[in-house]
Amino acid sequence: MAFLEIHNLRKSFGDVDVLKGINIAIEEGGFLVLVGPSGCGKSTLLNSIAGLETVSAGEIRIAGRPVNDLHPSERDIAMVFQSYALYPNMNVAENIAFGLEMRGVAKAERDAAVAKVADMLQIEPLLKRRPGQLSGGQRQRVAMGRALVRDPQVFLFDEPLSNLDAKLRVDMRTEIKKLHQALATTIVYVTHDQIEAMTLATQIAVLKDGILQQVGSPEEVYSNPANVFVADFMGSPT
Ligand code: ADP
Ligand code: MG
Repeated sequence: MAFLEIHNLRKSFGDVDVLKGINIAIEEGGFLVLVGPSGCGKSTLLNSIAGLETVSAGEIRIAGRPVNDLHPSERDIAMVFQSYALYPNMNVAENIAFGLEMRGVAKAERDAAVAKVADMLQIEPLLKRRPGQLSGGQRQRVAMGRALVRDPQVFLFDEPLSNLDAKLRVDMRTEIKKLHQALATTIVYVTHDQIEAMTLATQIAVLKDGILQQVGSPEEVYSNPANVFVADFMGSPT
């Protein structure tokens, strides 16, 4: 049984159909990279999985449990966005611990969790700083820390690296790959960077106009594209 299952998911805004029957199954520990042109529905799909949007039809299951009716905080999912708004008046440690504090986790336990995540992301020296004193790459690390500290079953990333410069993107990509291997969490990751997709994914899903064109291993999608759109998008050899 797949760990994250999406059955015939539809989402409309008014009379605009954005997702038109999405089916995806991801194994536990799988890393699905979702690619597709701007406006095709990638963020809407992630937001639906996270529960930030209510879906129009279809079902989402995590570990066999339907989550459609669960509040985002009950879904055991953490999301990292492209624009990671950190709380400017809290230091890094407080930013990371904030979600735990809201859930009533005791101080000692929060401190231990922050220390563990800081070690994983190598941000111990930054813990006392405010977001305004951090570089873009450091801020993105803190945003990841804030997601990681919740120890979620499923991680959603919405173009997390697209605001970073090229060199940092490569470093962070390596870092995310290591984290995935260390934690064995299930990940859905949106990017429009084909190289990022090829290096991170266990599965690539190509979305166009709210319809999945192909879901397969990076090799399959690249070498054996289902149609001209996928071939073009993945830069497949012709
Ligand atoms: P992507 O992330 O692939 O760029 P999105 O999922 O953000 O695409 O958007 C898909 C389509 O849905 C776009 O046409 C967008 O304008 C529309 N859309 C997204 N969110 C809303 C909303 N809250 N209300 C109305 N339309 C929306
Ligand atoms: Mg988007």
